[in-house]
Amino acid sequence: TWTDLTQQPEDPIFKLLNECIADSDPSKINLSIGAYRDETGKPWVLPVVQKAKQILLSDPASNHEYFGLDGNRSFTEASARLILGQDSAAMKDKRVTHIQAVSGTGAVRLGADFLAKFRPGTVYITNPTWGNHPKIFAASHLKVVEYNYWDGKTRTIAYDTLLDNLNTAPVGSIFVLHACAHNPTGLDPTHDQWKQIASIMKERQLFPFFDCAYQGFASGDLDRDAWAVRYFVEQGFELLVAQSFSKNFGLYSERTGCLTGVFADKETTVKAHSQFCALVRCSISNAPGFGAKIVDIVLKDAALTKEWKENLKTMANRITLMREKLFEHLKKMETPGIWTHITSQIGMFSYTGLTLAQVAAIKSKFHVYMTDEGRVSMAGLNESNVKQFAEAVDWVVRN
Ligand code: PMP
Repeated sequence: TWTDLTQQPEDPIFKLLNECIADSDPSKINLSIGAYRDETGKPWVLPVVQKAKQILLSDPASNHEYFGLDGNRSFTEASARLILGQDSAAMKDKRVTHIQAVSGTGAVRLGADFLAKFRPGTVYITNPTWGNHPKIFAASHLKVVEYNYWDGKTRTIAYDTLLDNLNTAPVGSIFVLHACAHNPTGLDPTHDQWKQIASIMKERQLFPFFDCAYQGFASGDLDRDAWAVRYFVEQGFELLVAQSFSKNFGLYSERTGCLTGVFADKETTVKAHSQFCALVRCSISNAPGFGAKIVDIVLKDAALTKEWKENLKTMANRITLMREKLFEHLKKMETPGIWTHITSQIGMFSYTGLTLAQVAAIKSKFHVYMTDEGRVSMAGLNESNVKQFAEAVDWVVRN
């Protein structure tokens, strides 16, 4: 018995986080996990979330009953509208179905299980991508292949090879697309590039599976961050979108997410919904309540929604400011290399282009924690550590 039971290595990102927590050096800088920090380096409970919590607590009708299998429907409907647009024609046509999921990860997994069962095909994920993508799709028994995304030389999107990959993938393959703020590179296609990507995908019947973990957090503008998904829907694609509310509401451990499916007709949509429910029944049965209730309270109320948008801008603007500060410091020190990508990348992360050896050296000499691939969580930087980080980068590229 247990002959195949081997020790699973620790997950790299949580391993790094634990290493950082264990480091007693007071000057350590945690740029590992993608979680927002305020200017004092502390986790930030969004003021609008604080208000929504009070509203929930003081509501005498609030309880802890089960939802249906599809979760909090008011929340999932609002969630679908948030990504597809308030006046989504597809929603009016009843070609959209949505189901609550255990945050973004759970939504990706639910979508992966659904595709494995009813539309199997090779899944193409970007190289590089969020570390969990290959694991989730493999767990759903789908074949996973990478497509090119990053050009290390120019530190831009490897656009030509990306197009080649789209053109040569087997007809009908599934492509995982990051809706905005690509993790880890922070580089998104331009609108013209998205249009060309969509046109090839349509011609080759490639299925878009959007992963949307940073709507509103990326640019501070919810509509701007939803542009690509809405464009694909307008172009008549059937598609899936996995939405996470971890970053844009700061509800990380509350596991608040939604899987939305857009289909060609109402009949397919109704059947898809029933299969989403069946997959939920045998995995989580009922989605977690708290986060979905908080998001629902905010999205149902115009004044709270307005306040949420301001909170989003606070986060997005602070990250943009840190990008500018980091860039300025590197420029002032004339740090060798191209650094313009620091300010042109968007969202939570900067993909510095530092090598594995440089990342290791920075960690041991300066107690700076970033992922092996040189990804920096920009939210970990603030006025008191950004210069120190720039100096560490400067030192490592010169040595
Ligand atoms: N997809 C991507 C690309 C992400 O970066 C994340 C967050 N790290 C997620 C999905 C989902 O995260 P969560 O399950 O915490 O919502």
